[in-house]
Amino acid sequence: MLAYTYLEKGTFRLTDKPKPVLREPGDALVRVTLSSICTSDLHIKHGSVPRAVPGITVGHEMVGVVESVGPGVQTVRPGDRVSVNVETFCGECFFCRHGYVNNCTDPSGGWALGCRIDGGQAEYVRVPYADQGLTKIPESVTDRQALFAGDILATGFWAARITEIGPEDTVLILGAGPTGICTLLCVLLKAPKQVIVCEKDPARLRFVREHYPQVLTVGPEEVLAFTQAHSDHGGADRVLEVAGAEETFRLAWQCARPNAVVTVVALYDRPQLLPLPEMYGKNLTFKTGGVDGCDSQEILDLIAAGKLDTTPLITHTVPLRDIAAAYDLFEHRRDGVIKVAVDCSMA
Ligand SMILES: [Zn+2]
Ligand SMILES: [Zn+2]
Repeated sequence: MLAYTYLEKGTFRLTDKPKPVLREPGDALVRVTLSSICTSDLHIKHGSVPRAVPGITVGHEMVGVVESVGPGVQTVRPGDRVSVNVETFCGECFFCRHGYVNNCTDPSGGWALGCRIDGGQAEYVRVPYADQGLTKIPESVTDRQALFAGDILATGFWAARITEIGPEDTVLILGAGPTGICTLLCVLLKAPKQVIVCEKDPARLRFVREHYPQVLTVGPEEVLAFTQAHSDHGGADRVLEVAGAEETFRLAWQCARPNAVVTVVALYDRPQLLPLPEMYGKNLTFKTGGVDGCDSQEILDLIAAGKLDTTPLITHTVPLRDIAAAYDLFEHRRDGVIKVAVDCSMA
């Protein structure tokens, strides 16, 4: 089968690999229908994910059809359409039992698919702990609608959940890339008083204004003064930092009012400065990523109910055989790309 493979730092290539087989009783084999390219894939390509194993198939955001299951799998059957969770987790350890599945202590726990074990930019993927890693897609939900449920939408959902958003809050979201927009959608479900989105790319700002006219938009140069002017207590009540750019961590805590919650979703390339003397007395609460991806059922139910729709994010669809060109497009943000759906069924 065709599989997009991490060869070494800087190089991914479409290679021919044997179709994966079940290894553990809890495994499922999934025939991938749609896969997507995520910024985290680019982090692997650029060598900033040290635990990524050369030789693995990349891709951790996908939907497909169950082909076969091991004897220990309870929740899915061959033929089921499923969303694949970015995280692998056992469901039984201390962290899993508390919902902190990102820190599952199983040796293959956490972000394994497309990083430490073969992922889903391929025709088939083996999913360990399939009872936790796969969620049946409701009949009325299409593959395109479900494509992001296991990764970027899960991230936005988790971020909105832990940020403790209330009806009186002004919420500032830094970054309107794909994950920023998913975060925005999930923040809107909490119905805060006001949402401000800060983004420096004019095309992305335009996308937000077009699709979500109830949201205020601003660029990074004006965001501090703008947030202060559009909030009730001298700054945002809740800040979600999803940009991960040079200055955005600083903006996140500066734009927050005293006693605010600042949730850091972004994955930075470099260490960030936490200048405690400057923020002394501001009494901020910081929460940090990555996602605990255990809300897929709720997310798919919200999609089925028409309350979440990420299909506008899919700006391009390409067959798996053209994935290298799709990476190039995505990485260099050409042609107004937001997300690419990779059709693996017509490899
Ligand atoms: Zn991702
Ligand atoms: Zn666990």
